[in-house]
Amino acid sequence: MEGFIKPCDAVVELIYECPKCSARHRLTRKDTKYPGIVTCYCRHRFKVRPVSQIKITPLYRDINRKNFGKRVTLDLDQAQNALVALGYKKTEISKKFAGLLEKNDYNSVDDLIKDFILGEEMKNGKQNHV
Ligand SMILES: [Zn+2]
Repeated sequence: MEGFIKPCDAVVELIYECPKCSARHRLTRKDTKYPGIVTCYCRHRFKVRPVSQIKITPLYRDINRKNFGKRVTLDLDQAQNALVALGYKKTEISKKFAGLLEKNDYNSVDDLIKDFILGEEMKNGKQNHV
């Protein structure tokens, strides 16, 4: 077998939030073609700026690392309990965790908790600003 093959192309979804109801819409680059009008479920229509190109840079995993391939199991209950103790709602936590775990590889619950709190602070900061 030859060495590792690298990807030759990628399919990227661009996510747009309706300015009126915040519903999310997934568009491909082609969908943004002029006039790029999106009709939301709430019937609001908005224009998206045409995207001509998307650059993707894969960051390859260091396969010489000793622990390569070792899956870390996170104690999500522990993380959740810690956040409940801080006053966050359980439903809110599990919803947010799902999103974070989908996007990132966590090696410890501490990092997960840190990102959660950081995200919450950013959200609150935005709200205070408006
Ligand atoms: Zn909408």
